[in-house]
Amino acid sequence: HYRALRVVKGDDGQPRAEFQTLPSTELPTGDVTVQVTHSSLNYKDGMAVAGRPGILKRHPMTPGIDLAGTVLHDETGEYTAGEGVLITGWGLGERHDGGYATLARVPAAWLTRLPHGTDAQWAMSVGTAGFTAMLAVMALEDHGLKRGEEAEVLVTGAAGGVGSTAVALLAKAGFNVTASTGRPDEEPYLKALGARTVIGREAVSGLTRPLESERWAGVIDTVGGATLAGAYAATRTHGSLAVCGLAASAKLDTTVYPLILRGVNLLGIDSVTCPPSRREAAWGRLARDLPAAALTDVTRVRGLSELPALAQAILAGQVRGRTVIDVNA
Ligand code: NAP
Repeated sequence: HYRALRVVKGDDGQPRAEFQTLPSTELPTGDVTVQVTHSSLNYKDGMAVAGRPGILKRHPMTPGIDLAGTVLHDETGEYTAGEGVLITGWGLGERHDGGYATLARVPAAWLTRLPHGTDAQWAMSVGTAGFTAMLAVMALEDHGLKRGEEAEVLVTGAAGGVGSTAVALLAKAGFNVTASTGRPDEEPYLKALGARTVIGREAVSGLTRPLESERWAGVIDTVGGATLAGAYAATRTHGSLAVCGLAASAKLDTTVYPLILRGVNLLGIDSVTCPPSRREAAWGRLARDLPAAALTDVTRVRGLSELPALAQAILAGQVRGRTVIDVNA
């Protein structure tokens, strides 16, 4: 048997989360059975657990877009029992039962081995959020972002999960990081992560002209809407924006001027479908640049049973950094 947080459709047709104990025959089909020890909380998970539409493709479903644990059995023989593995994305916790359970069964192709010297809790303190931040940094570098004093890089939604890890990764890589946050109290936290400058939300969303003064060599945006539009209008010639999220809005009301007059690159980041070779490269660099010690201040560990309340908190923008879920608590 295994324990899971399931989102079911009630008699009224509304989705709701409940804890269930299920026989292992209820696991979906797949090559590998994983003993899950840790999962994490992402914005998407908050939406799924709170019953918001758009994330879960069917019901009942176990949410949790990230998981880490050990292999119990692999039909393909690629993984041996006891190996430490992690999964992010691929539809886990959206169209395939996810990480909010003590057991999972998945296709072998979805697994990534835990990098040498790391453990499941570390992997989940990184999770989809940190992995996405790493993909964003790699995308900016691939498009010519050079480190150094000159390269002021903006992170929006900086106190959130993706934002916090992006600030830490960029600072570690030697960039001059500006963090934009709607929570001024988080300034000491963001400075401790390595932000050189902390600015308010309006300092970005208030940039409403088609072309603003050139300021940022690179941008990692998790907010969308007017924030992304403002950051884009103030990106320097041949600079790039890694577009990750929609914490404020999915809309983008802007002009083509920064693209055609400044050669600005608008780069899309999708962690869910990221191919395996890029995943391995990203996880290897995360293990090198964000060891567990560097994530202590960013991470808190909570039990599976606390998820319903945590989901409300992340949707209300009250969660700082990353929340690891201990699925046995
Ligand atoms: P999170 O921890 O909730 O962080 C989001 C942050 O955005 C908040 O902490 C807040 O930062 C800011 N924010 C929230 N509401 C806002 C509003 N109305 N206006 C302006 N800023 C607002 O969530 P997350 O897990 O980091 O995810 C962030 C976004 O990235 C989400 O939209 C998520 O869906 C997306 N995402 C995308 C991918 C991908 O593969 N593309 C992967 C992971 C996440 P401050 O308090 O600092 O202002």
